[in-house]
Amino acid sequence: MSESSKTDVIVVGAGPAGVSAAITVARGGKKVVLVERGNFSGSKNVYGGVIYSHAAQEIFPNFKEAPIERFVNNKSFMLLSEYDSTTISYKNSLTEDGSFIALRAKWDKWCVEQAKKEGVYLAPDTTVRNLIVENGDVVGIETDLEKFYADIVILADGANSLLAEQIGLKSKPKTKQVVLGVKEVLKLPSAVIEQRFGLIDGKGAEFKIAGGPLAGLFAMGLMFTNKESVAIGIGASLDDLKSKKIAPYELLEDLKHHPSIAPLIKDGELIEYSAHLIPEGGIEPLPKLYANGVMVTGDAAALVNNVHFEGTNLAMFSGKFAGETALEAIEKNDFSANMLCLYEKKLQNSFVMKDLRTYKDVVKLVSGRTESFLGYYPQKVNEFFEIFTSANGIEKKSLFVKFTKNFFCKRSLAELFSDAITGIKLIFGVLK
Ligand SMILES: Cc1cc2nc3c(=O)[nH]c(=O)nc-3n(C[C@H](O)[C@H](O)[C@H](O)COP(=O)(O)OP(=O)(O)OC[C@H]3O[C@@H](n4cnc5c(N)ncnc54)[C@H](O)[C@@H]3O)c2cc1C
Repeated sequence: MSESSKTDVIVVGAGPAGVSAAITVARGGKKVVLVERGNFSGSKNVYGGVIYSHAAQEIFPNFKEAPIERFVNNKSFMLLSEYDSTTISYKNSLTEDGSFIALRAKWDKWCVEQAKKEGVYLAPDTTVRNLIVENGDVVGIETDLEKFYADIVILADGANSLLAEQIGLKSKPKTKQVVLGVKEVLKLPSAVIEQRFGLIDGKGAEFKIAGGPLAGLFAMGLMFTNKESVAIGIGASLDDLKSKKIAPYELLEDLKHHPSIAPLIKDGELIEYSAHLIPEGGIEPLPKLYANGVMVTGDAAALVNNVHFEGTNLAMFSGKFAGETALEAIEKNDFSANMLCLYEKKLQNSFVMKDLRTYKDVVKLVSGRTESFLGYYPQKVNEFFEIFTSANGIEKKSLFVKFTKNFFCKRSLAELFSDAITGIKLIFGVLK
């Protein structure tokens, strides 16, 4: 092995996890190469989405200089039935900088520019094909052109981490362990977006959407206001899509045509269509997080909190912890699994694993009752509000009695009780 082809740390993948790992290593004064298969960072990355300020601040204290579309001050949950909807919106005018909408192509690029300024060497347009393993230790990577060696390799290659599979840290995900996200970006003038979504001062809105065309599937819709476009997408269980033979783009098309959504995106010009896998998250599908000479971060390690739609923040913190662990390992000249287990300890002591543990059963419980949670109940909420808000000369009591009878005749008490417990777990994540 030539000295010129060896560095302290190689990070594979320049998404939120990889860039956070790489910049942490560089800040510790060690040599780090960040390898990205895209021709620029972010070119291949898909998400909703929203970046959380607490994580951005942790890695990039100057993150407000980044190309941010809009800080989010309007967070809404929309429950759809076939023709109507109920929306619950949350606004906080005091702390409105908690999350922001950013386009990954711009945000990831900016993050990598910051990392380069701090000493990270970026190798763009380079796909890592294999990990080099010698005597049970990961000692480097192999691209189409060359082999490159390092004391530690950090995998941040996203949801479909073939490299982690290659060395047995995880198995090929089953269809029920992944969600397929598809998304369109529709161009609209900024003033039109602000008027339709009731936005002022350049602030933005995010929507989580259940029911309607997605009813009965383990699927949710997403909508975000960029500066001059609206992103709308769905995330649906690959298992459901496959077994029910549903094309995700058809679901998205139906969602776009729902009467409560269509006016918001009317005349939007399609400028981007993308699809990406999301690990279902939770503790169960977690791969082994480290082995001799290697650590796995972010989506590659299935670190996603699907209940709260968090992925980028878990990716950034896991990258940071992996970077810190690499620095300690280099200090002690020990790259064994015994040393790198510190990475898992850091994750366990942080909100990342604490939250994943808290919600470990929830996705499983809800996916067993999707018909109820993502179909029947949203429909009932709409029926209730239809009665509550209408004045049609019919005695209210009779309408509510009819509604209640109807509600209970379609669900047994046992089912309702079990769903109520799951609902509490879903919201608070605290009950066993
Ligand atoms: C539709 C959708 C909506 C989402 N919305 C949100 C949201 O609003 N908020 C949120 O926090 N999270 C959201 N997520 C989740 C979030 O996108 C991920 O959790 C996050 O991007 C994970 O970061 P990462 O760095 O681990 O992986 P990624 O962002 O996937 O980055 C992996 C990088 O590795 C590179 N790569 C892969 N293989 C190789 C290889 N062999 N060699 C070299 N480079 C390689 C890729 O090109 C990519 O740049 C969403 C996801 C989807 C799909």
